[in-house]
Parts: sequence; C-alpha cells; structure tokens
Amino acid sequence: MTEVVAAVVVAAGRGTRAGGARPKQYQEFRGVPVIRTAIAAFAEHPAVSLVQPVIHLADLDQYRAAVAGLNLLEPVSGGATRQDSVLAGLAALAPHRPQRVLVHDAARPFVTPALIERAIATPGAAIPALPVTDTIKLVTDGRVVETLDRGRLRAVQTPQVFDYADLLAAHRKAAAADRHDFTDDAALAEWAGLPVGTFAGESSNIKLTTPEDFAIAEKAYRAELTDLRVGSGYDVHAFADGDHVMLGGVRIPHTRGVTGHSDADVALHALVDAILGALAEGDIGVHFPPSDPQWRGASSDKFLAFAVERVKARGGAIAHLDVTVVCEAPRVGPHRDAIRTRIAEIAGISLDRVGLKATTSEKLGFTGRSEGITASALATIRLPGSST
Ligand code: MG
Repeated sequence: MTEVVAAVVVAAGRGTRAGGARPKQYQEFRGVPVIRTAIAAFAEHPAVSLVQPVIHLADLDQYRAAVAGLNLLEPVSGGATRQDSVLAGLAALAPHRPQRVLVHDAARPFVTPALIERAIATPGAAIPALPVTDTIKLVTDGRVVETLDRGRLRAVQTPQVFDYADLLAAHRKAAAADRHDFTDDAALAEWAGLPVGTFAGESSNIKLTTPEDFAIAEKAYRAELTDLRVGSGYDVHAFADGDHVMLGGVRIPHTRGVTGHSDADVALHALVDAILGALAEGDIGVHFPPSDPQWRGASSDKFLAFAVERVKARGGAIAHLDVTVVCEAPRVGPHRDAIRTRIAEIAGISLDRVGLKATTSEKLGFTGRSEGITASALATIRLPGSST
C-alpha cells in the first residue's frame, strides 16, 4: 500500500513586518499571493495527497481568493502560536489517517518539487538543513559570550517531515505540558524525544518576512527573466454617431463615437495584440471572438487584464508598453496622463513603464478624413530564460 502523505501549511500569523497592510503571506510576489505559491507546491505535487491549510479566520476572504482552484482541505483556524496552529492542522488531518506529514510555512513560496521529494524520501523525522556561512556568536546584553563552531551549525527550513502519529503525539504531549513556544516542529519533536535527521535544504527556499526579503527575491527573479521579447499590435475602428471615444480605458467626450463589437478602444486592442504577439499566443480575435455575444459592448480593460495574466502565467513580467494613437480629433494630449495611469493600473506596472503618443495624419488617408481612428503598440516583456 502506498503511504498517504499529507501537508500542513501554516498561514495563521498576522505578521505585517513585510511592510504591507496585509499579513505577509497574502502579499504578492510575481503577481501571485505568496500563500498561493507555497500551497500550490504541495497541492500540485504528485506524492502529496492531502493539503491542510491553517489560517487566521479574519483572513478567510483573502484566503479563498488567493487559493481559488487549488485542491485543498477546508482550512482550519490557527491558534495563538505557530505551534498551536500546527496542532490544529494535525488534528484536522486525523480522519484521513495519513502516514506521514510535511509541515511548511506559507511565507516560503520557493519550495521546489525536488525539496518536497527529498523530504518524503527521508525516513522518520527530518528537516531541510543548510551549512552556515556566517560565523555565529552567542551574545548576552550586547556582549559576546561564545563563538560557536560553524562546522557543526546548520540553518534549518521547512518543509519538515514526520511520521504523522509521532508528530501528533509529540504536539499533544507539549500542549499537555503547557509548552506552546516551540518555533519549529523539529524543536518540539526533539523535546519529545524523537530522533530528528536532516536532508539538504535549498538556499533559494527563503522566507519572505521583511521588505528586504521581498526585494532580494525580486532581484533574483529579475535575473531569471532573460528571454526578452517585443511584440507589436495595430487596430482600427471607424467613427460613427455617438458622444465619446474610449481610449486606453478612459472615456473621452467627442462629437462622434466609434463602432465596434466591444467598446472599440483602439489603444487597448493594439496593446493586447502587442502582448499576445510577444508571447506568440495568437491575437485578440482568437481569445475574444467577435462572434461571441458575451463581448458585445465589453469594456476592453478585461482584454488587457487577460493578456497581462497570460504573461504572469508564463512566469514573466511586462517591461514596457508603448502606444501611438492616430486621429485628427479628439485631441488626445490633454488626456495623456489619465490614459497612461489607467493602462499602468490595468497592467499592474508603474507609470514610467507606459508610453503614449498621439499624432494626426496631416489630413491624409482615412484618419485624415476623420473616418476612423488607429493605434499601434509595442509591448516589451521578459520571460524566464529557457533551460535549453
Ligand atoms: Mg479592435
């Protein structure tokens, strides 16, 4: 019989040391909440059959939004300390009778399938450990008491792995002894007399706790995005009766309107095609067929948000968006910053990464005769470098 491996992922902390208004595990990294990335690593691992999240009930709505679509057990409410939260997760797993359990912190999103594999392959209780490169000193009242032998020290991480029944018994023993202060499960297991082994940790498996942690992770991520791509897009819509034009998601009053199946926003349509072009994932018509009635009159910011999601799904980032609008009227210049701001907002990038120019075509051609409006766009994106 194959053994049932469960994972308890603890996310009940209220820590806002990362600087945001939200607890750190709900802050986004690479456009995805940290907790989702951490939990998905287990939920999508073929050797892990049950994932038991432990959360703070005040975060329930954020939690549900963050993990939508993942195959998880219903979350349970955490306790006053990390240790209490792990016990709550272990207790909730009891009806499923797992043989082994992994305990992981939701603030460590970089856990790899290989690390989870190594944990499961290590028998009994074991923890991921890394050699220490800094010299570590014991200090009391600002004074060095002792210099520790670095060769024997290890920095430890999660996931930590245990035989389920042993860890649950150890936790119950600690709770019965009114001990609630163990900061990791290995310490509790050691206290309870369980032998704890080690396996190789990963230096990339860092905990995102402070703004500096997020900055370090961001820098490492940028360094991985070596596949630089530029895509172009172009769009035309005809003027018709109406009183406004939608341009870059901004409503601009005008003596005419624009025809089109959706809201006919040429700037956003050109940008969507530019991004899809950079991804080599078709064009706007493939993803939002004009024949589909659900896109009638649709607000085009949905299309741009979709294209941006596709970039994120590929693990990438948008470096720059640039649009040129051609028409005799309305005048676009006065709305330039409003449009740039709106595009930056939809794309989730900073304002200095959005360019917008407007020109007339000197009364030449169909734009010159004010029969229509056109936009062309370039999108520069970065994707993770291919491993080949
Ligand atoms: Mg169009």
